[in-house]
Amino acid sequence: MKRYIYGAGKYGHLLYDILSNYEIEISGFVVSFNDDLKLDSKTMLIDDCSYEDTDVIYIAVKDEKERRIIRKNLNIKGLRNDQIIDFGSFIKQNDYEKIYSKYCLLCGSRIKDFEEGGWTDSPLFYEKHIIGGGKRSNCICPVCKCNDRMRWVYYTICKHTDMLKEKCRVLYFAPEKQIVDTLFLEEKGMVFYGADISSRRGNIQVDMTNICFKNDYFDYVVANHVLEHIQDETAALREVYRVLSPGGKFIFSFPICTDCETFDDESIVSKEDRLRFYGQEDHVRLYGTDYLKRIESVCDLKIQCFSPQDDLPHEKILEYGFIKDDIVMIGRK
Ligand SMILES: [Zn+2]
Repeated sequence: MKRYIYGAGKYGHLLYDILSNYEIEISGFVVSFNDDLKLDSKTMLIDDCSYEDTDVIYIAVKDEKERRIIRKNLNIKGLRNDQIIDFGSFIKQNDYEKIYSKYCLLCGSRIKDFEEGGWTDSPLFYEKHIIGGGKRSNCICPVCKCNDRMRWVYYTICKHTDMLKEKCRVLYFAPEKQIVDTLFLEEKGMVFYGADISSRRGNIQVDMTNICFKNDYFDYVVANHVLEHIQDETAALREVYRVLSPGGKFIFSFPICTDCETFDDESIVSKEDRLRFYGQEDHVRLYGTDYLKRIESVCDLKIQCFSPQDDLPHEKILEYGFIKDDIVMIGRK
């Protein structure tokens, strides 16, 4: 016996999570159209499915009229009424939408809440406003353990680039497992290099200040929260620019202090001092309000900044667990 959920939207995923809590196994989602839905290994078009006599379909669609049409269509496909269970009104009546009001874009889980997370040891976070710094209440996904900043990077990649829609070459510095796993679920012919200065992480050892690839090779270079660890920032940016193809994009982010200009001082080397001045013991710089000018002055990237508060209404920012003034930059060569 297989169980399917009809509807792969909010209701579908909500029902999936509810049933998973009771250890009821779902074989997949079925949908009628794939206009704005991504079809993956778990989501199938209704017309591509064949059903056994013992299979069951749970309808999880909000609109009542639509649910009636779906039932009729399933009957036409040969399913009996006792194989079709309508969960739409159940979800609505029980207000599950309100209870499971958060959604993790990376693992696709509908959850009650994100958990607290973030770095808290530095006094800097109490003195200054640093975007993405300090303790945050809507930070960690309880299922995949991704954080708020990873989710925003992933959203920006999906919404503001074609990385998942085209054949492309990607060089991804310090790849975050949750983002990379999700990218690979979706990608259409991506050549991917997960790069790290250490051979223990990523699948290729690359020094960002001396990148071992030829000019114009990559369509995308990604470096989230990497530049603040690199002493020779100019060399790193020039190298990124060099390996990007014309029109290629550099997707990057770092903690930004909104109270002051960028601060770095090569005489600050101890862990304690770095924690005190930059907010983390392995950072070599604290970016400030001049961050754009600073990057544009060493390479010719045309940079655009993307922030949840410019892209989405307040409710969506809460639902997806973003930091409202988080910033991801996309620089185009
Ligand atoms: Zn998650």
